[in-house]
Amino acid sequence: MSDLRELYQEVILDHNKRPRNCRKLDCATCEAKGHNPLCGDRITVYLRLENGRVEEVTFEGAGCAISMASASMMTQTLKGRTVEEARKVFEVFHDLVTGKGCPGGAAAELGKLAAFSGVSEFPARVKCATLAWHTFNAAADGQQTTVSSE
Ligand code: ZN
Repeated sequence: MSDLRELYQEVILDHNKRPRNCRKLDCATCEAKGHNPLCGDRITVYLRLENGRVEEVTFEGAGCAISMASASMMTQTLKGRTVEEARKVFEVFHDLVTGKGCPGGAAAELGKLAAFSGVSEFPARVKCATLAWHTFNAAADGQQTTVSSE
């Protein structure tokens, strides 16, 4: 467990304890549900898109600290960006948590999300860290089905 504890850096713990934008969005234009059966994480992402831009993004869910903190930080990162920009951020984030990215470059691009770099050492946790993002993509695509990380 000591390895996992190192993974749960302070910023992740803080977002897990006090998740930002964690509420249903009544004026959402799209929403999608995500499920990570390996860990039991469940999430619903709500989006309000206007002219391809993320005007609002919120989530509701229950799961491990990694999944909830990632969702919380995702909403802060993606609000105000275009869907296209959001997908690019996810690519960089995905490279970071799978250990493919250059850590320095990712840190500049991702800001606080760089706290998830430790996830790359725990492949099972990658699904936790990316669940909200896959669900965001599904919502932006207008998919109504539940995303499974499997
Ligand atoms: Zn999880």
